[in-house]
Amino acid sequence: MYDVKSMKAEEFISDEEIRETLAYADENCENLELVDALLKKAEARKGLNHREASVLLACQDPERIQRMYRLAEQIKKDFYGNRIVMFAPLYLSDYCVNGCVYCPYHAGNRLIARKKLSQEEIRREVIALQDMGHKRLAIEAGEDPVNNPIEYILESIKTIYSIQHKNGAIRRVNVNIAATTVEDYRKLKEAGIGTYILFQETYHKESYEKLHPTGPKHNYAWHTEAMDRAMEGGIDDVGLGVLFGLEMYRYEFAGLLMHAEHLEAVHGVGPHTISVPRVKRAEGIDPSAFDNGISDDIFAKICALIRICVPYTGMIISTRESQAVREKVIRLGVSQISGASRTSVGGYAEEEPEDECSEQFDVSDKRTLDEVVRWLMDLGYIPSFCTACYREGRTGDRFMSLCKSGQIQNCCHPNALMTLKEYLMDYASAETREVGEKLIQAELANIPRERTREICAEHLKQIEEGQRDFRF
Ligand code: SF4
Ligand code: SF4
Repeated sequence: MYDVKSMKAEEFISDEEIRETLAYADENCENLELVDALLKKAEARKGLNHREASVLLACQDPERIQRMYRLAEQIKKDFYGNRIVMFAPLYLSDYCVNGCVYCPYHAGNRLIARKKLSQEEIRREVIALQDMGHKRLAIEAGEDPVNNPIEYILESIKTIYSIQHKNGAIRRVNVNIAATTVEDYRKLKEAGIGTYILFQETYHKESYEKLHPTGPKHNYAWHTEAMDRAMEGGIDDVGLGVLFGLEMYRYEFAGLLMHAEHLEAVHGVGPHTISVPRVKRAEGIDPSAFDNGISDDIFAKICALIRICVPYTGMIISTRESQAVREKVIRLGVSQISGASRTSVGGYAEEEPEDECSEQFDVSDKRTLDEVVRWLMDLGYIPSFCTACYREGRTGDRFMSLCKSGQIQNCCHPNALMTLKEYLMDYASAETREVGEKLIQAELANIPRERTREICAEHLKQIEEGQRDFRF
């Protein structure tokens, strides 16, 4: 029985409700009167629920699809402006006891090299990341109570935050580790993590169990209820995601929105971010073995609809996607991207020898951070290295209320300019710096509040004089 407030996975992600939703969407996808009414509702920036959103996803009318894209672009502009927040993944360990059939780290894969970074190796990785200009990391580790216990993760977070190298510092560590206990989530909160990220992979329970045949992750309820435990443990920024390609995308899309609605209904805060990964090739993994792959057009439509349905939730896209796909979906609502990512354990400090592969997936976008930053600026975006909200305690409902008040623009925009300025001063090539300086001067005028604009201009000068780390 579907109950958005239930704490049981099978009730807040009810299979019956999803099936009824998909049937409702099929019945109504050509009901253009309803589609128009839903688009009108979405234009009021109040979001749409999973049933409404599923009708739009099923709608094939070309004119309405163009309206969806235009609306997504407008919402993106209104809420996120032209800023794109940058981050990088940091793989700590590929030891894993689970059997996820789509991931090369699964316990039975003998083709990859198993590695776990020591604290000294983490230092080297972090310095390499700082030398590129990164300020925000997402740490990743397989599930392995012996090799990667929570103590190892906590120690690694402490190490990462402690490293000050030249003008560099990692100011926000997001964590992507397996579902765990309330007690462990509390420890992660105390360690000062930003967002806790856990991809659901698939909301379809039967498929989920087949795709995760062995290991603790096989337990669908334990995995699906993890965000509730994280929130109980005090983590109020959580990141959802499904791995598109494993199951029918329409099923996943409805499940994803139901999960967001559940978090909002129970905890008063929806997800902080949604990630939209697609299954990719990796050592021992062939994506064509999964027959639910989605085209670039459907992928773009999903991104646009997420933007429309949960306007206050950030959307993340990784280097799994090519430059061309990233360019398309950034316009439609993506607010955070990774740059210059290495998806192998220890890949930043040293190139992996060919016979020692530990990549979790093939990176499609292989450009350097400098190239990605310049590309974004050439497209009219402001690459932002901002981490201010988390450091000012603006998380969970405090973050959401600031967003909803419309005042977040007075924080995000100047913070983007100041962190970009730091990047240009400390890490950029001469060519990128030149493009960036012009962009900053032009964008300064777009800070809504006059006083904020003046303070920002002052801080930009101070950054030139060598000071760092200003924020609103
Ligand atoms: S997806 Fe995560 S849990 Fe599954 S095998 Fe890969 S690292 Fe392990
Ligand atoms: S001010 Fe907050 S919401 Fe805006 S970019 Fe910075 S951290 Fe993100």
